[in-house]
Amino acid sequence: MSQPSQTHLIVKFYSTNSPDTFVDLKEAVIRSLPADNGLYMPESIEPLPESFWENWREMPLAELGFHVAKQILGDSIPDSDLKEIVSEAINFDAPLVTIAPQTHILELFHGPTLAFKDFGARFMARTMAYLTKGDDKDLTILVATSGDTGGAVASAFHNVPGTRVIILYPKGGVSALQEKQLTTLGGNITALEVDGTFDDCQAMVKATFLDRELSLKYNLTSANSINISRLIPQSFYYFHAARQLPEGVLPTFVIPSGNFGNLTAGLLAEKLGLPVAHWIAATNINDTVPRYLAEGEYDPQPSHATISNAMDVGAPSNFARMKNLFGDSWEAMRESISGLAFSDDETREAIRAVNEGTGYTIDPHGAVGILAAEIWRQAVPDAETIILETAHPSKFLPTMEEELGAGNIEVPERLASLADLPKESHHVSKAPKEILKFLG
Ligand SMILES: *Cc1c(COP(=O)(O)O)cnc(C)c1O
Repeated sequence: MSQPSQTHLIVKFYSTNSPDTFVDLKEAVIRSLPADNGLYMPESIEPLPESFWENWREMPLAELGFHVAKQILGDSIPDSDLKEIVSEAINFDAPLVTIAPQTHILELFHGPTLAFKDFGARFMARTMAYLTKGDDKDLTILVATSGDTGGAVASAFHNVPGTRVIILYPKGGVSALQEKQLTTLGGNITALEVDGTFDDCQAMVKATFLDRELSLKYNLTSANSINISRLIPQSFYYFHAARQLPEGVLPTFVIPSGNFGNLTAGLLAEKLGLPVAHWIAATNINDTVPRYLAEGEYDPQPSHATISNAMDVGAPSNFARMKNLFGDSWEAMRESISGLAFSDDETREAIRAVNEGTGYTIDPHGAVGILAAEIWRQAVPDAETIILETAHPSKFLPTMEEELGAGNIEVPERLASLADLPKESHHVSKAPKEILKFLG
Protein backbone atom coordinates (compact mmCIF):
# COMPACT_ATOMS: atom_id res chain seq x y z
CA MET A 1 0.00 0.00 0.00
CA SER A 2 1.43 3.39 -0.91
CA GLN A 3 1.41 5.94 1.87
CA PRO A 4 1.14 9.67 1.38
CA SER A 5 4.35 11.25 2.64
CA GLN A 6 3.88 12.42 6.20
CA THR A 7 5.96 14.46 8.54
CA HIS A 8 6.44 12.70 11.85
CA LEU A 9 4.74 14.39 14.72
CA ILE A 10 6.82 14.13 17.86
CA VAL A 11 4.62 15.51 20.60
CA LYS A 12 6.24 17.70 23.23
CA PHE A 13 5.16 18.23 26.82
CA TYR A 14 5.21 21.45 28.81
CA SER A 15 4.97 22.10 32.53
CA THR A 16 1.83 23.83 33.80
CA ASN A 17 4.25 26.28 35.48
CA SER A 18 6.32 27.06 32.35
CA PRO A 19 4.18 26.72 29.24
CA ASP A 20 7.05 27.79 26.94
CA THR A 21 9.55 25.08 27.84
CA PHE A 22 9.13 21.65 26.28
CA VAL A 23 10.43 18.14 26.93
CA ASP A 24 9.93 14.89 25.01
CA LEU A 25 7.82 11.92 26.06
CA LYS A 26 10.70 10.06 27.72
CA GLU A 27 11.60 13.06 29.88
CA ALA A 28 7.95 13.68 30.81
CA VAL A 29 7.28 10.03 31.71
CA ILE A 30 10.56 9.17 33.43
CA ARG A 31 11.06 12.50 35.19
CA SER A 32 7.33 12.57 36.01
CA LEU A 33 7.49 15.88 37.89
CA PRO A 34 9.03 18.97 36.24
CA ALA A 35 11.74 20.77 38.25
CA ASP A 36 9.46 23.82 38.56
CA ASN A 37 6.94 21.75 40.54
CA GLY A 38 4.25 21.98 37.85
CA LEU A 39 2.74 19.01 35.99
CA TYR A 40 3.43 17.86 32.45
CA MET A 41 0.80 18.33 29.75
CA PRO A 42 0.84 17.44 26.05
CA GLU A 43 1.51 20.57 24.00
CA SER A 44 -1.66 20.27 21.98
CA ILE A 45 -4.68 18.00 22.11
CA GLU A 46 -6.50 17.90 18.79
CA PRO A 47 -9.87 16.24 18.19
CA LEU A 48 -9.72 12.74 16.71
CA PRO A 49 -10.07 12.62 12.91
CA GLU A 50 -13.30 11.89 11.02
CA SER A 51 -11.98 8.39 10.17
CA PHE A 52 -11.97 7.46 13.87
CA TRP A 53 -15.62 8.36 14.36
CA GLU A 54 -16.72 6.22 11.42
CA ASN A 55 -16.24 2.98 13.34
CA TRP A 56 -15.33 3.95 16.91
CA ARG A 57 -18.39 2.17 18.28
CA GLU A 58 -17.37 -1.22 16.87
CA MET A 59 -13.63 -1.51 17.41
CA PRO A 60 -12.19 -3.65 20.23
CA LEU A 61 -11.29 -1.67 23.37
CA ALA A 62 -7.53 -2.08 22.77
CA GLU A 63 -7.86 -0.71 19.25
CA LEU A 64 -9.94 2.22 20.48
CA GLY A 65 -7.25 2.81 23.10
CA PHE A 66 -4.53 2.77 20.46
CA HIS A 67 -6.26 5.50 18.42
CA VAL A 68 -6.82 7.65 21.50
CA ALA A 69 -3.22 7.24 22.73
CA LYS A 70 -1.87 7.87 19.23
CA GLN A 71 -3.85 11.10 19.00
CA ILE A 72 -2.18 12.35 22.19
CA LEU A 73 1.32 10.95 21.59
CA GLY A 74 1.66 11.46 17.84
CA ASP A 75 4.65 9.51 16.57
CA SER A 76 6.51 9.58 19.89
CA ILE A 77 6.08 5.79 20.00
CA PRO A 78 5.93 3.91 16.66
CA ASP A 79 2.46 2.51 15.88
CA SER A 80 3.42 -1.15 16.19
CA ASP A 81 5.01 -0.61 19.62
CA LEU A 82 2.14 1.54 20.85
CA LYS A 83 -0.38 -1.08 19.72
CA GLU A 84 1.51 -3.73 21.67
CA ILE A 85 1.73 -1.55 24.80
CA VAL A 86 -2.01 -0.82 24.73
CA SER A 87 -3.15 -4.34 24.00
CA GLU A 88 -0.95 -5.88 26.72
CA ALA A 89 -1.97 -3.21 29.24
CA ILE A 90 -5.71 -3.19 28.57
CA ASN A 91 -6.46 -6.90 28.42
CA PHE A 92 -9.72 -6.70 30.40
CA ASP A 93 -13.09 -5.05 29.82
CA ALA A 94 -14.96 -2.09 31.32
CA PRO A 95 -18.65 -2.97 30.98
CA LEU A 96 -21.45 -0.46 31.45
CA VAL A 97 -24.22 -1.86 33.66
CA THR A 98 -27.58 -0.09 33.80
CA ILE A 99 -29.00 -0.49 37.32
CA ALA A 100 -31.96 1.92 37.03
CA PRO A 101 -33.31 4.33 34.43
CA GLN A 102 -30.58 6.87 33.52
CA THR A 103 -28.24 5.26 36.04
CA HIS A 104 -25.35 3.48 34.39
CA ILE A 105 -22.40 2.03 36.25
CA LEU A 106 -19.06 1.88 34.45
CA GLU A 107 -17.31 -1.07 36.07
CA LEU A 108 -13.61 -0.28 36.11
CA PHE A 109 -12.61 -3.11 38.44
CA HIS A 110 -12.05 -5.99 36.03
CA GLY A 111 -8.24 -5.68 36.02
CA PRO A 112 -5.81 -7.71 38.17
CA THR A 113 -6.07 -5.54 41.32
CA LEU A 114 -9.81 -4.82 41.02
CA ALA A 115 -9.60 -1.04 40.69
CA PHE A 116 -9.49 1.44 37.82
CA LYS A 117 -5.86 2.16 38.64
CA ASP A 118 -4.91 -0.99 36.72
CA PHE A 119 -5.56 0.92 33.48
CA GLY A 120 -3.03 3.63 34.27
CA ALA A 121 -0.46 1.50 36.05
CA ARG A 122 -0.29 -1.23 33.40
CA PHE A 123 0.06 1.27 30.56
CA MET A 124 2.65 3.26 32.49
CA ALA A 125 4.77 0.19 33.37
CA ARG A 126 4.92 -0.92 29.74
CA THR A 127 5.58 2.61 28.48
CA MET A 128 8.39 3.13 31.00
CA ALA A 129 9.96 -0.23 30.16
CA TYR A 130 9.73 0.67 26.45
CA LEU A 131 11.26 4.13 26.88
CA THR A 132 14.19 2.90 29.01
CA LYS A 133 15.01 -0.25 27.05
CA GLY A 134 18.79 -0.44 26.68
CA ASP A 135 19.54 2.18 29.40
CA ASP A 136 22.29 1.10 31.80
CA LYS A 137 20.71 2.06 35.15
CA ASP A 138 17.67 0.48 36.78
CA LEU A 139 14.63 2.68 37.23
CA THR A 140 13.34 3.18 40.80
CA ILE A 141 9.66 4.01 40.97
CA LEU A 142 8.51 5.89 44.09
CA VAL A 143 4.81 5.91 44.76
CA ALA A 144 2.58 7.21 47.53
CA THR A 145 -0.76 5.48 47.84
CA SER A 146 -4.03 6.11 49.62
CA GLY A 147 -5.19 2.63 48.74
CA ASP A 148 -5.42 1.37 45.22
CA THR A 149 -2.51 3.04 43.46
CA GLY A 150 0.11 1.04 45.30
CA GLY A 151 -1.49 -2.30 44.55
CA ALA A 152 -2.01 -1.50 40.89
CA VAL A 153 1.54 -0.18 40.51
CA ALA A 154 3.07 -3.10 42.41
CA SER A 155 1.17 -5.58 40.26
CA ALA A 156 1.99 -3.75 37.03
CA PHE A 157 5.76 -3.56 37.71
CA HIS A 158 6.24 -6.83 39.57
CA ASN A 159 9.11 -8.71 37.89
CA VAL A 160 9.49 -6.08 35.14
CA PRO A 161 13.25 -6.24 34.45
CA GLY A 162 15.24 -3.05 35.07
CA THR A 163 12.70 -1.65 37.55
CA ARG A 164 12.05 -1.62 41.27
CA VAL A 165 9.22 -0.02 43.20
CA ILE A 166 9.10 1.66 46.62
CA ILE A 167 5.55 2.16 47.87
CA LEU A 168 4.63 4.52 50.73
CA TYR A 169 1.26 4.08 52.42
CA PRO A 170 -0.31 5.64 55.53
CA LYS A 171 -0.28 3.26 58.50
CA GLY A 172 -3.87 2.27 59.24
CA GLY A 173 -5.06 4.26 56.22
CA VAL A 174 -5.69 1.40 53.80
CA SER A 175 -7.91 -1.67 54.09
CA ALA A 176 -6.49 -5.04 55.16
CA LEU A 177 -6.73 -6.53 51.69
CA GLN A 178 -5.38 -3.40 50.04
CA GLU A 179 -2.42 -3.64 52.38
CA LYS A 180 -1.89 -7.25 51.36
CA GLN A 181 -1.83 -6.17 47.72
CA LEU A 182 1.05 -3.82 48.57
CA THR A 183 3.06 -5.98 50.90
CA THR A 184 2.98 -9.55 49.63
CA LEU A 185 4.63 -9.44 46.22
CA GLY A 186 8.29 -9.18 47.32
CA GLY A 187 11.01 -9.28 44.68
CA ASN A 188 11.43 -5.81 43.16
CA ILE A 189 8.59 -4.36 45.30
CA THR A 190 9.29 -2.69 48.73
CA ALA A 191 6.46 -1.36 50.93
CA LEU A 192 6.97 1.44 53.51
CA GLU A 193 4.29 1.81 56.20
CA VAL A 194 4.37 5.51 57.13
CA ASP A 195 3.37 7.08 60.45
CA GLY A 196 1.29 9.77 58.80
CA THR A 197 -1.48 10.52 56.31
CA PHE A 198 -1.58 10.03 52.56
CA ASP A 199 -0.68 13.71 52.14
CA ASP A 200 2.44 13.08 54.25
CA CYS A 201 3.37 10.14 52.00
CA GLN A 202 2.86 12.29 48.93
CA ALA A 203 4.99 15.08 50.45
CA MET A 204 7.82 12.58 51.18
CA VAL A 205 7.81 11.45 47.57
CA LYS A 206 7.70 15.00 46.25
CA ALA A 207 10.58 16.14 48.50
CA THR A 208 12.72 13.22 47.32
CA PHE A 209 12.09 14.04 43.67
CA LEU A 210 12.77 17.70 44.06
CA ASP A 211 16.27 16.73 45.22
CA ARG A 212 17.71 16.70 41.72
CA GLU A 213 20.94 15.01 42.79
CA LEU A 214 19.18 12.07 44.45
CA SER A 215 16.76 11.83 41.63
CA LEU A 216 19.53 11.42 39.05
CA LYS A 217 21.74 9.23 41.22
CA TYR A 218 19.02 6.66 41.78
CA ASN A 219 17.16 7.19 38.50
CA LEU A 220 13.97 7.97 40.39
CA THR A 221 10.59 8.18 38.82
CA SER A 222 7.05 8.52 40.06
CA ALA A 223 3.98 6.42 39.49
CA ASN A 224 1.48 8.78 41.09
CA SER A 225 -1.31 10.23 39.02
CA ILE A 226 0.99 13.18 38.43
CA ASN A 227 2.63 10.96 35.79
CA ILE A 228 1.18 11.82 32.41
CA SER A 229 1.45 8.21 31.20
CA ARG A 230 -1.14 7.16 33.77
CA LEU A 231 -3.71 9.64 32.58
CA ILE A 232 -3.61 8.71 28.90
CA PRO A 233 -5.08 5.18 29.24
CA GLN A 234 -7.70 6.46 31.67
CA SER A 235 -9.17 8.52 28.86
CA PHE A 236 -9.89 5.30 26.89
CA TYR A 237 -12.80 4.21 29.01
CA TYR A 238 -14.72 7.45 28.68
CA PHE A 239 -15.02 6.67 24.98
CA HIS A 240 -15.80 3.05 25.76
CA ALA A 241 -18.54 4.05 28.22
CA ALA A 242 -20.11 6.62 25.92
CA ARG A 243 -20.37 4.17 23.04
CA GLN A 244 -22.27 1.71 25.24
CA LEU A 245 -25.14 4.23 25.43
CA PRO A 246 -27.60 4.44 22.51
CA GLU A 247 -26.30 6.52 19.63
CA GLY A 248 -26.81 10.25 20.10
CA VAL A 249 -27.19 10.06 23.90
CA LEU A 250 -24.73 12.39 25.64
CA PRO A 251 -23.33 11.08 28.93
CA THR A 252 -23.09 13.02 32.15
CA PHE A 253 -20.03 11.50 33.81
CA VAL A 254 -20.01 11.25 37.60
CA ILE A 255 -16.51 10.71 38.95
CA PRO A 256 -15.75 9.77 42.54
CA SER A 257 -12.57 11.81 42.99
CA GLY A 258 -9.51 12.17 45.20
CA ASN A 259 -6.44 13.34 43.30
CA PHE A 260 -8.61 14.11 40.26
CA GLY A 261 -6.53 12.08 37.79
CA ASN A 262 -9.62 10.26 36.63
CA LEU A 263 -11.57 13.44 36.03
CA THR A 264 -8.60 15.05 34.28
CA ALA A 265 -8.39 12.03 31.95
CA GLY A 266 -12.07 12.57 31.17
CA LEU A 267 -11.37 16.18 30.27
CA LEU A 268 -8.63 14.94 27.92
CA ALA A 269 -11.20 12.64 26.27
CA GLU A 270 -13.52 15.60 25.77
CA LYS A 271 -10.67 17.63 24.24
CA LEU A 272 -10.12 14.70 21.88
CA GLY A 273 -13.66 15.22 20.66
CA LEU A 274 -15.83 12.99 22.87
CA PRO A 275 -19.26 14.61 23.23
CA VAL A 276 -20.13 14.95 26.93
CA ALA A 277 -23.15 16.65 28.53
CA HIS A 278 -21.54 17.51 31.87
CA TRP A 279 -18.96 16.46 34.45
CA ILE A 280 -19.73 15.83 38.11
CA ALA A 281 -16.86 15.79 40.61
CA ALA A 282 -18.10 13.69 43.53
CA THR A 283 -16.08 13.66 46.74
CA ASN A 284 -16.33 12.63 50.36
CA ILE A 285 -15.83 15.31 53.04
CA ASN A 286 -12.42 16.02 51.50
CA ASP A 287 -14.17 18.59 49.34
CA THR A 288 -11.45 21.00 48.23
CA VAL A 289 -12.58 20.93 44.58
CA PRO A 290 -16.36 21.15 45.17
CA ARG A 291 -15.67 24.15 47.44
CA TYR A 292 -13.50 25.71 44.76
CA LEU A 293 -16.22 25.21 42.14
CA ALA A 294 -18.81 26.78 44.44
CA GLU A 295 -16.75 29.68 45.75
CA GLY A 296 -13.87 30.30 43.35
CA GLU A 297 -11.37 30.03 46.19
CA TYR A 298 -8.76 27.25 46.11
CA ASP A 299 -8.22 26.37 49.73
CA PRO A 300 -6.58 22.93 50.19
CA GLN A 301 -7.00 21.36 53.63
CA PRO A 302 -5.38 18.48 55.50
CA SER A 303 -7.14 15.25 54.55
CA HIS A 304 -9.67 13.49 56.78
CA ALA A 305 -10.13 9.73 56.99
CA THR A 306 -13.37 8.37 55.49
CA ILE A 307 -14.81 5.02 54.37
CA SER A 308 -14.03 5.96 50.76
CA ASN A 309 -10.36 6.15 51.67
CA ALA A 310 -8.93 6.29 48.15
CA MET A 311 -10.48 9.77 47.96
CA ASP A 312 -9.06 11.08 51.23
CA VAL A 313 -7.06 13.82 49.56
CA GLY A 314 -6.96 17.40 50.81
CA ALA A 315 -4.68 18.85 48.14
CA PRO A 316 -5.52 17.09 44.85
CA SER A 317 -2.40 16.71 42.74
CA ASN A 318 -4.13 17.05 39.37
CA PHE A 319 -5.83 20.33 40.15
CA ALA A 320 -3.07 22.23 38.31
CA ARG A 321 -3.90 20.26 35.15
CA MET A 322 -7.63 20.95 35.49
CA LYS A 323 -6.98 24.67 35.83
CA ASN A 324 -4.64 24.57 32.88
CA LEU A 325 -7.24 22.85 30.68
CA PHE A 326 -9.69 25.66 31.44
CA GLY A 327 -7.15 28.42 30.83
CA ASP A 328 -7.09 29.25 34.55
CA SER A 329 -10.72 30.33 34.39
CA TRP A 330 -12.96 29.44 37.31
CA GLU A 331 -16.02 30.45 35.30
CA ALA A 332 -15.08 28.12 32.44
CA MET A 333 -14.38 25.22 34.81
CA ARG A 334 -17.67 25.51 36.65
CA GLU A 335 -19.57 25.62 33.38
CA SER A 336 -18.25 22.12 32.59
CA ILE A 337 -17.88 20.63 36.07
CA SER A 338 -20.15 20.62 39.10
CA GLY A 339 -18.91 19.47 42.49
CA LEU A 340 -20.83 17.59 45.16
CA ALA A 341 -19.55 16.24 48.49
CA PHE A 342 -21.03 13.64 50.86
CA SER A 343 -20.51 12.36 54.39
CA ASP A 344 -19.80 8.78 55.40
CA ASP A 345 -23.34 8.45 56.81
CA GLU A 346 -24.85 9.42 53.48
CA THR A 347 -22.48 7.04 51.71
CA ARG A 348 -23.45 4.11 53.97
CA GLU A 349 -27.11 4.88 53.41
CA ALA A 350 -26.53 4.89 49.64
CA ILE A 351 -24.79 1.49 49.74
CA ARG A 352 -27.89 0.04 51.42
CA ALA A 353 -30.40 1.90 49.25
CA VAL A 354 -28.77 0.85 45.98
CA ASN A 355 -28.67 -2.75 47.13
CA GLU A 356 -32.30 -2.75 48.28
CA GLY A 357 -33.56 -0.83 45.28
CA THR A 358 -31.64 -2.52 42.46
CA GLY A 359 -29.82 -5.56 43.85
CA TYR A 360 -26.50 -4.01 42.80
CA THR A 361 -23.57 -3.97 45.22
CA ILE A 362 -21.75 -0.64 45.00
CA ASP A 363 -18.49 0.10 46.83
CA PRO A 364 -18.13 3.21 49.07
CA HIS A 365 -16.44 5.24 46.29
CA GLY A 366 -19.09 4.40 43.71
CA ALA A 367 -21.76 5.13 46.34
CA VAL A 368 -20.48 8.71 46.60
CA GLY A 369 -20.96 8.88 42.83
CA ILE A 370 -24.49 7.47 43.09
CA LEU A 371 -25.42 10.19 45.59
CA ALA A 372 -24.08 12.89 43.28
CA ALA A 373 -25.91 11.43 40.27
CA GLU A 374 -29.21 11.44 42.18
CA ILE A 375 -28.86 15.08 43.12
CA TRP A 376 -27.84 16.00 39.60
CA ARG A 377 -30.86 14.27 38.07
CA GLN A 378 -33.16 16.24 40.35
CA ALA A 379 -31.76 19.39 38.74
CA VAL A 380 -31.45 17.97 35.20
CA PRO A 381 -34.18 15.32 34.92
CA ASP A 382 -33.17 13.96 31.51
CA ALA A 383 -29.46 13.51 32.35
CA GLU A 384 -28.06 10.07 31.46
CA THR A 385 -25.59 9.59 34.29
CA ILE A 386 -22.60 7.28 34.00
CA ILE A 387 -21.12 6.68 37.43
CA LEU A 388 -17.56 5.39 37.51
CA GLU A 389 -17.35 2.36 39.80
CA THR A 390 -13.71 2.78 40.64
CA ALA A 391 -13.10 -0.40 42.66
CA HIS A 392 -14.70 -3.77 43.42
CA PRO A 393 -16.73 -3.68 46.66
CA SER A 394 -14.79 -6.60 48.13
CA LYS A 395 -11.77 -4.31 48.51
CA PHE A 396 -13.67 -2.58 51.33
CA LEU A 397 -15.04 -5.65 53.01
CA PRO A 398 -15.50 -4.40 56.61
CA THR A 399 -17.58 -1.38 55.53
CA MET A 400 -19.54 -3.39 52.98
CA GLU A 401 -20.37 -6.10 55.52
CA GLU A 402 -21.44 -3.52 58.08
CA GLU A 403 -24.03 -2.26 55.61
CA LEU A 404 -25.07 -5.39 53.72
CA GLY A 405 -24.36 -8.15 56.25
CA ALA A 406 -21.47 -10.55 56.77
CA GLY A 407 -21.01 -13.09 54.00
CA ASN A 408 -23.05 -11.08 51.50
CA ILE A 409 -20.10 -9.70 49.54
CA GLU A 410 -18.56 -11.86 46.88
CA VAL A 411 -14.75 -11.79 47.08
CA PRO A 412 -13.02 -12.64 43.78
CA GLU A 413 -10.43 -15.40 44.09
CA ARG A 414 -7.47 -13.18 43.14
CA LEU A 415 -8.20 -11.03 46.19
CA ALA A 416 -9.30 -13.75 48.60
CA SER A 417 -6.07 -15.69 48.12
CA LEU A 418 -4.02 -12.74 49.47
CA ALA A 419 -5.50 -12.98 52.96
CA ASP A 420 -3.23 -15.87 53.95
CA LEU A 421 0.01 -14.44 52.61
CA PRO A 422 2.38 -12.84 55.14
CA LYS A 423 2.66 -9.03 55.10
CA GLU A 424 6.16 -7.65 54.53
CA SER A 425 6.60 -3.93 55.14
CA HIS A 426 9.01 -1.44 56.76
CA HIS A 427 7.56 0.89 59.41
CA VAL A 428 8.93 4.47 59.00
CA SER A 429 8.28 8.03 60.23
CA LYS A 430 6.99 10.72 57.90
CA ALA A 431 10.43 12.35 57.48
CA PRO A 432 11.38 12.40 53.77
CA LYS A 433 14.88 11.15 54.62
CA GLU A 434 13.42 7.76 55.60
CA ILE A 435 13.20 6.95 51.90
CA LEU A 436 17.00 7.21 51.56
CA LYS A 437 17.56 4.01 53.54
CA PHE A 438 15.79 2.05 50.86
CA LEU A 439 17.42 3.61 47.82
CA GLY A 440 20.98 2.34 48.28
C1 LIG B 1 -7.76 6.39 43.27
C2 LIG B 1 -9.18 6.12 43.52
C3 LIG B 1 -10.14 7.13 43.43
C4 LIG B 1 -9.77 8.56 43.14
O1 LIG B 1 -9.26 8.73 41.84
P1 LIG B 1 -8.48 10.06 41.47
O2 LIG B 1 -8.03 9.86 40.07
O3 LIG B 1 -7.33 10.18 42.42
O4 LIG B 1 -9.45 11.18 41.61
C5 LIG B 1 -11.47 6.80 43.60
N1 LIG B 1 -11.83 5.54 43.91
C6 LIG B 1 -10.93 4.54 44.02
C7 LIG B 1 -11.41 3.19 44.38
C8 LIG B 1 -9.58 4.79 43.82
O5 LIG B 1 -8.71 3.81 43.94
